[in-house]
Amino acid sequence: MSRKIDSKFASNGIWNNNYFIRGRKPDCVFVHIMCAPKWSSDVCGAYFARSKVSSNYGIGYKGDICQYVEEKYGAWAQGSQYWNKRGISIELANSTGADKGWKVSDETLESCIELVADIFIRNGLGHVNYTGTTKGNLLMHKWVAATSCPGVYVASKFPHIEKEANKIIDGEIRLPERGYFKKGDHGRSVRILQRWLRKQGFYKGLHKGDIGTYKSLTAGAVKKFQRKYSLVVDGEFGQECLKKYKELKE
Ligand SMILES: [Zn+2]
Repeated sequence: MSRKIDSKFASNGIWNNNYFIRGRKPDCVFVHIMCAPKWSSDVCGAYFARSKVSSNYGIGYKGDICQYVEEKYGAWAQGSQYWNKRGISIELANSTGADKGWKVSDETLESCIELVADIFIRNGLGHVNYTGTTKGNLLMHKWVAATSCPGVYVASKFPHIEKEANKIIDGEIRLPERGYFKKGDHGRSVRILQRWLRKQGFYKGLHKGDIGTYKSLTAGAVKKFQRKYSLVVDGEFGQECLKKYKELKE
């Protein structure tokens, strides 16, 4: 039986059979924390394939995303049949372990924001609504089962995930005013540039090895953008590109 990767942000699928037929549409997202530190999304997928738990997606500590269970099925993630049938679940790799509050890397968090927005858009769930209770649609495992998942750090980021995912849902992508990017740059601003290039159709999906770092794939996308608008084609996002970006925004 062939299975389908639902999100363009997932680079691959490592499938398992630990899921329920939902019998309904999913209407919320659960963000979990992986217990073992510094797992990649592939290692988590291999673990689920040989165990009796799962989630729909996993995000590794470098921001890599893998799908394990199709969204139409409810993964065995929440420890509750009711919530497994309702929720789409995402496991985040922790980078520090329990003693440091189960922190996750910035890349993992940024990938989570992009994946949450993508899930909401494709499933017609409207805006992300974090209420601090199960009345909202961005939920914590510890609200529905006896667990401390997703840990102190990720729990503190739920309002941030809500705010940033809603910006993407609303189509608001603002490049930093600095506006100058070249090969070797990395960090959140590069991530936002990639997000904008993706929205404009120049950069596809989320590439392992290029996540949040300005490498050849990003430079290639910038070249396509430069070619389309008859700018100097050098693969660097400089003043001329920034000017065009501002014109397109108006
Ligand atoms: Zn959990």
